[in-house]
Amino acid sequence: MTCTVRTLSWVFLVFVIGAMTTGLADETWHELQGHGSAFGAALQGKAKMTERRYAPDRDADILHITIDVTPDFQQRTVAGTTTIRFAPMAKPLTELRLDAIDLDVSSVTSDAKIEGYDVTDKAITITFDPAVRPGAKTTVKVVYEAEPKRGLYFRTPAMGYPEGDTHLYTQGETHEAPHWYPNYDYPNEQSTSEVICRVPEGMTVLSNGRLVSEEVDPESGLKAVRWLQDKPHVNYLVALVAGQLGKIESTYRDIPIAFYTPASQIEYAANSFRDTADMLEFYEKEIGVPYPWDKYYQAAVEDYGGGMENTTLTILTTGTLFPDEMENVRSSQGLVAHELVHQWFGDYVTCKDWSHLWLNEGFAVYYEKLYDGHKNGRDSMLYNLYRISHWVLRNRSVHKPIVTRSYDDAWEQFDYRAYQKGAWVLHMLRTEMGEEMFRKCVKTYLERHALSSVVTEDLRSVIEELTGRSYDRFFDQWIYHGRHPDVEVSYEWSEKDKLAKVSVEQTHEVTDKVMLFHFRTKIRFVIDGEVIDRRIDIDSQQHDFYYRLPGKPDIVRFDPDYGLLANVTFDKSTPMLYEQLEYAGDVIGRLKACDALAKKKDKKTVAKLREVLNEDPFYGVRQRAAAALEEIHTDEAFEALADSLDQTDARVRQDVVGHIGDFYRPESLELTRKILKAEENPAILGGAIRNLGLYHHKKTRRLLVRYLKSRSFRNELAGAAVEAIRMLDEPFFIGPLQQILAEREREFRSWEFARALETLARISRNEEDKTKVRKFLVGYVNHPKEQIQAGAIGALGALGDPKAIPVLETFSSDEPDNRVERAAERALKDLRDRKELVPEEIVQLRETVDKLKTETDRLKDDLDDIKKRLEANKEALGDKEADETSGSSQTVAEDENDKG
Ligand SMILES: [Zn+2]
Repeated sequence: MTCTVRTLSWVFLVFVIGAMTTGLADETWHELQGHGSAFGAALQGKAKMTERRYAPDRDADILHITIDVTPDFQQRTVAGTTTIRFAPMAKPLTELRLDAIDLDVSSVTSDAKIEGYDVTDKAITITFDPAVRPGAKTTVKVVYEAEPKRGLYFRTPAMGYPEGDTHLYTQGETHEAPHWYPNYDYPNEQSTSEVICRVPEGMTVLSNGRLVSEEVDPESGLKAVRWLQDKPHVNYLVALVAGQLGKIESTYRDIPIAFYTPASQIEYAANSFRDTADMLEFYEKEIGVPYPWDKYYQAAVEDYGGGMENTTLTILTTGTLFPDEMENVRSSQGLVAHELVHQWFGDYVTCKDWSHLWLNEGFAVYYEKLYDGHKNGRDSMLYNLYRISHWVLRNRSVHKPIVTRSYDDAWEQFDYRAYQKGAWVLHMLRTEMGEEMFRKCVKTYLERHALSSVVTEDLRSVIEELTGRSYDRFFDQWIYHGRHPDVEVSYEWSEKDKLAKVSVEQTHEVTDKVMLFHFRTKIRFVIDGEVIDRRIDIDSQQHDFYYRLPGKPDIVRFDPDYGLLANVTFDKSTPMLYEQLEYAGDVIGRLKACDALAKKKDKKTVAKLREVLNEDPFYGVRQRAAAALEEIHTDEAFEALADSLDQTDARVRQDVVGHIGDFYRPESLELTRKILKAEENPAILGGAIRNLGLYHHKKTRRLLVRYLKSRSFRNELAGAAVEAIRMLDEPFFIGPLQQILAEREREFRSWEFARALETLARISRNEEDKTKVRKFLVGYVNHPKEQIQAGAIGALGALGDPKAIPVLETFSSDEPDNRVERAAERALKDLRDRKELVPEEIVQLRETVDKLKTETDRLKDDLDDIKKRLEANKEALGDKEADETSGSSQTVAEDENDKG
């Protein structure tokens, strides 16, 4: 799933955009998007710190919902009538509570007798008198207007989107739907649904299920389009897309499939749509359950993050679209496959509550990789698993299990645990039980729970039933406990005895949150091309295995089939790594050899990696070799990269260019300029432009101004120039950058424009007179695009001009709950602290001085105190001497003490 990127840091954002557009890690994208979304009205109230979360009670069974909306594209509001048919479950129902966020309700009616209804900013509570008896099918109808802050997003020319591309789209997951219609909003409830949307005649309306009718109302002139989803699905999967859209279409079997974009971008749709039918065919075969719905449409929409798997209508970001000239650097394959798989995992069966989210996302990520294996070969699939393993393995200090009930906000569940680790858990199951048995289990699990909600135990019990084996421990260690094993492997060879000793130790700390892992894998020896595999069972912390072999192994591999998610350290000799690096049948072995060799600096290793970079048959190993050379970072490594630009696979070429930019060398600048002349792929050119950001030089200034003014697909080259300018941090660019931003706002993508505003502020922060830039930025603080608005507000913080404080204060809130308010809060803090304007050492020095001053003051007080005590005592002593019977001296001393 997904939704818009709200609170990501820029670094993340750029990474995410980059990762997604390479088709690499849409799971990355998923993981990050949506933070800060308003969580569940369904949970009745605001979340407190880390409560345990459970699915709410269902007092009524929702049977069918009809949502009839008329959007106003000028006002960006909707007028709606929502009709809900329900039946009370076990008890007579007095109150029906519907999640409804900030809806302006004008009437609530029912075929049952309503005593009254109460509307808050979170819910509508309808009271029946008499109570509706269990099972009695009842209808309520709510008429309302909404100006949705979330859940339904307008994209219009008045907001800065192109004329002729007007559209709106919705986003349900996790709890955004109540912003545009009322319903019970939690995934432990399924119902059929119907969406009617009334739009001007030239517009297209898309929603779930099948098209029922399209009628023009002669009175209003509006076209009413009615869609019916007649198979039950959960509320967050209800979707609507409407507007001026372009379309390409086809069929798979008798299933209509289509791809929509804003009208002006339809020429790019084919590149993203290309594999859809092939994926459907593959998934039907692989999953064993026919595609369960009436159609499969995908719609790309503006300023949306990632993708969302609404039943029969996936919504995607337009960021996934790309022209041919990008070659294979860009791809929609991962994203398109991911969302399509969700039609089975997530839609046909849905996690009952967010603690079991991995049943949606883990399957989507894993089957996305399985399709990649089908299309591009097993090496490609393994490479994908290798890459996503890093998302898990770097989280060594996080002990949160995949299934946990302790979270504040549902979005916290959308991280590497549900996505990458979930996918790996499935990969381990499949490796361990074999493909055929795995398929059988998955098919049975889907068929048994079709069109309903699932929990992890549903999957486990099917697996146990069909395999006859206990999976208690497997699920306990991987799903209900946190982390993954750290495994240290060592190997010794005794030539005399022809004996290999392999030791395996689990080195991670075992606690009540992280178990000692039990797993089964293999040790592989390769001796003169002959492969000898030995099964090993790991069930304690330390094992020593001895094997008599025909000769000294050239290669020793732990877990050669790559079926274990573990952080494996295996210290090997360099010659053995070289053998492994060249061993054709083992892509993971070659990748891991690169990992190990990246830590060496010698010329021979560099030469070996250079050879791999130019000759390995698999592009992923070539990419890894390029990265290893960058890590080695010697002059020879630089030369090896510089001499390896002639890569036919654009993905490798892009990496080589990127890594060259990681070296600060005068030759690197020259080389980058050569690349800029020769390269034609805009994505790779963008990388080369960013590389210029290291070199303060007249020539780079000239080049960057030229790229700032250039025109390219989505203004990518100008965006790359902004990044380089940001790195250079030179006031020289203030004028040219401001001019381009003023003239060409609409050509930038929203996030990139926001980023550029912030860059302008940063490079202006040391200017004496900031008035011009401040005024320029203030011009964007009310921009109708939330991203640009927040960007401008953040930029005012970065500019460091206290004169912006009054403007920023108008956006601040005591409890910031959206992107703009959070940006204002951060900016105000920046300005009030003004810390970023003072070098860090001075800040520290000032802190030290402050501390010293406090200490001196205290010492002075103490001294005064002692002095006074002494004086008092002296006085008392004097008095005593003078008048031995007087008792007043004590009193005086005490009084003085009090003052001290
Ligand atoms: Zn997903």
